[in-house]
Amino acid sequence: MIELRDVHKTYKSKKSKSTRALDGVSLTLGNQGMTFILGKSGSGKSTLLNVLGGLDKYDSGDMLILGKSSKQFTQADFDSYRNTYVGFIFQEFNILEDYDVYQNIVLALQLQQKKVSEREINQLLDKLELKDLKKRKVNELSGGQKQRAAIARALITAPKLVLADEPTGALDSRSSAQVMKMFTDIHQKGQTILVVTH
Ligand code: ADP
Repeated sequence: MIELRDVHKTYKSKKSKSTRALDGVSLTLGNQGMTFILGKSGSGKSTLLNVLGGLDKYDSGDMLILGKSSKQFTQADFDSYRNTYVGFIFQEFNILEDYDVYQNIVLALQLQQKKVSEREINQLLDKLELKDLKKRKVNELSGGQKQRAAIARALITAPKLVLADEPTGALDSRSSAQVMKMFTDIHQKGQTILVVTH
């Protein structure tokens, strides 16, 4: 589904020396499955996720999306790829603090013009143990609850590609196990998940 071929990215800085964040990365993500990327802090994991999610540009090499080179992609092509294809589970991404958990989920669906039943939303909230927090504003949640809300928001649209940056970083071991179980279930149903962790 997504393939990186010899992708390079360097952050250039006027003040300090430039940083080579991706140095010839090649990687293939199939149509279903779960892939883990492990690496210590500063090794380029977030950069890789940003490139894969179309949030950031690479300098050279190529990224093929469904077999098509993204070299000629316009901003609109990347926007459409991001909005229709990718679900992001990033620490500080895509969750609106002033909205409650339920409003965040509904908004994610509206942005993609997708409809799911109230029952499906409740099932997801149930799996993530968020049912009682449905009407709670995100800025009134704990770190772990917020992380679970972000997971709910990313998964409700059933994106083909889920990009997760330390998705269980703020969770206790029981919640972590539940989230990993959910990932296992959905990748078996035909989604692709990339999990980044240190
Ligand atoms: P990781 O997610 O594995 O911690 P990152 O992809 O965030 O790694 O960073 C890789 C390298 O690129 C690090 O050395 C980091 O300091 C540098 N870097 C990341 N983002 C930027 C940026 N916007 N500008 C300059 N350097 C950056």
